[in-house]
Amino acid sequence: MKSIPEIIASQKAHFLTQSTKDVSQRLQLLKALKAEIISKEQAILDALHSDFKKSAFETYISEFGLVISELNLAIKHLKKWAKPKRITSSLLTFPSKDYIYKTPYGTVLIIAPWNYPFLLAMEPLIMAIAAGNTVVLKPSELTQNTSQLITQIIEAVFAENTAISIEGGVETSTELLAQNWDYIFFTGSTKVGKIVAKAAAEHLTPTTLELGGKSPCIVDDTSNLKLVARRVVWGKLFNGGQTCIAPDYMLVKSSIKTAIVEALIHEIVKRYGDDPKLSQDFPRIINSKNIDRLKRLLHDETILFGGTIDVSQNYISPTLIDAPNIENPIMQEEIFGPILPIITYDTEEDIEAIILHNDTPLSFYIFSKNETFIKNTIEKFRFGGGVINDVLVHFGNAKLPFGGIGNSGIGKYHGKHGFDTFSHEQAIMKRGTWFDPSFRYAPYDGKISLLRKVFKFLG
Ligand code: NAD
Repeated sequence: MKSIPEIIASQKAHFLTQSTKDVSQRLQLLKALKAEIISKEQAILDALHSDFKKSAFETYISEFGLVISELNLAIKHLKKWAKPKRITSSLLTFPSKDYIYKTPYGTVLIIAPWNYPFLLAMEPLIMAIAAGNTVVLKPSELTQNTSQLITQIIEAVFAENTAISIEGGVETSTELLAQNWDYIFFTGSTKVGKIVAKAAAEHLTPTTLELGGKSPCIVDDTSNLKLVARRVVWGKLFNGGQTCIAPDYMLVKSSIKTAIVEALIHEIVKRYGDDPKLSQDFPRIINSKNIDRLKRLLHDETILFGGTIDVSQNYISPTLIDAPNIENPIMQEEIFGPILPIITYDTEEDIEAIILHNDTPLSFYIFSKNETFIKNTIEKFRFGGGVINDVLVHFGNAKLPFGGIGNSGIGKYHGKHGFDTFSHEQAIMKRGTWFDPSFRYAPYDGKISLLRKVFKFLG
């Protein structure tokens, strides 16, 4: 087995052969990757189930299906995306033909988290390869079955000098981050994101940081509460609440609090039964460390519903919390589990005070029929992306850029946004040689007044 520096050296040498820039070769690789993933469909569903009891349905929709869609999109549009784009020339530089070339960065490091372990490793890999880069991917150490499968899939499709999966934990990640990369794409916590940013700064390496945060879900008194409860319970409990864009807490108009709590409880029981531990559809928490963390967050909180914990099975039941103080730990950190605090508001100032307490979340959700309220609220706050009258579903449209702002991240991807993320936009101007007025050349004496007129004309 080669050392990490040897692997990077071989990928950098391979990049210099120019062969990764060949679009037909990139297409071949993407097609081979798609065939390999399709042949492993059942193994992928099984791996996620073994890792944290994720149901086949949730794995299909949020990991396998999205990865195949991303591959289909890249395969369909790659030739167009990769083509140099002719843009309008400027009179200042007449005569010229001006282009934007999309060129790969070189050798890319991708570090993936455990919560959507297949999707969040494969999606950046697909677009990095589509853009003509070589890739070293480090999947999460916490989902061993899925990570091993990712390694097998990559080994089956790519030569080591084009893409490789290196499994390991913090130590491996630290060694990888100490190398000189051409691009780093990281998905994970804000805390580790800062470590990545510092390591990248050492070599001035460009980065995309896909991080987390506390995404609020505001519900006013014009909403259809039955529909709100159905959508919020689905989005909060999907993946066992371990979703970077899950509604973290609910901010409801005080007049509807009792009704919304009733509707949420009704919906939880309807979907997951009286004992969600027996439901095939409710995943487990990834490990005991996170169970301990969630247990600590529940300490001293008023539980409205649920709160059952079985440490031996990494299980925590869907739980509703009554009006925590915003200084409490549960309102200070991203919950990342099936616990939903419910806070009330009466005025827009109340909303402002709570949301600004956890500035720049990754997602923002608002349920309302009041268009003025929706418009004012959406425009007021800074957040990665949002949905009006639903949760999570903005992730499902690859035409929408996905990414955070401030503490929730830097950069964006999905679909063509992903291809652009892994491509450097190179400005190329091809100058005509048939016309070369002496105006721009020294001596400049007496020319500035004409220059003023030219700039005035250009506007
Ligand atoms: P994490 O930050 O603990 O780990 C992510 C990756 O970083 C893993 O591969 C891990 O091995 C590595 N890592 C961990 N500690 C490290 C260190 N000290 N130095 C170097 N590398 C280290 O995150 P996680 O627990 O795997 O995932 C959960 C977090 O990810 C949540 O905060 C969630 O919001 C966020 N997330 C964000 C998105 C997004 O698209 N924005 C998607 C999923 C998860």
